[in-house]
Amino acid sequence: MKIIMLGAPGAGKGTQAQMIADKYDIPHISTGDIFRENVKKGTELGMEAKKYMDQGLLVPDELTVKILLDRVAKPDCKNGYVLDGFPRTIPQAEVLDKAITELGEKIDYAINVDVPDENIIRRMSGRRACLACGATYHIEHIPPKQEGICDKCGKELVQRDDDKEETVKNRLDVYHKQTQPLIDFYTKQGVLRTVDGTMDMKDVFTAITTLLA
Ligand code: ADP
Ligand code: AMP
Repeated sequence: MKIIMLGAPGAGKGTQAQMIADKYDIPHISTGDIFRENVKKGTELGMEAKKYMDQGLLVPDELTVKILLDRVAKPDCKNGYVLDGFPRTIPQAEVLDKAITELGEKIDYAINVDVPDENIIRRMSGRRACLACGATYHIEHIPPKQEGICDKCGKELVQRDDDKEETVKNRLDVYHKQTQPLIDFYTKQGVLRTVDGTMDMKDVFTAITTLLA
């Protein structure tokens, strides 16, 4: 099963993608996580990506597309995957489409996690992330068992540099201009499904699994 998660930054794509990945035993692929890993390691890719991420801008398509195509070519993707944060532009979606079509395959579902802008800023300011395993928490809504520590791997949780209010506003602008057109793109392909992302995390997941069943 090949699934794409769509939605504004902070809509809950990563939270749901991880639950989908666990349930269907497919990899959760987040381009944001891949960039953050590279920033942490200080690689050339990481240093280049950070320039854009810190301003709430998209990393250029040339860089992003390459890392994504390399990742989905790995053996663990043979039974499918859930993409979180990719594609974010029409050109990215077109490249992905071409690569998948050449393999005689297709995207099964693009799940649009719908959350109004008003809710987003509050969600982002409470987000805490584990840079070691990619798990995401919220200090009020989805707290870890022990404050500041990842339930999954025991490492320290941090606030992401790009979750500051000013950067979040830029990211929302970028989302509306560059990413929202993908809703039309996947509607035309007949694979778009929208879920109400303002519900409790478990109810959002139930809505998604109902769609996938
Ligand atoms: P995205 O991957 O779309 O940027 P995340 O999955 O990281 O979003 O979620 C953003 C923040 O909102 C995180 O702090 C997360 O724990 C929290 N969150 C996710 N889903 C819900 C939900 N249904 N209700 C409340 N908070 C949520
Ligand atoms: P995310 O973790 O998905 O919120 O992504 C964090 C940041 O990484 C984004 O604000 C972008 O700067 C960058 N990024 C992640 N995925 C992409 C993508 N598909 N295209 C361009 N930039 C991306």
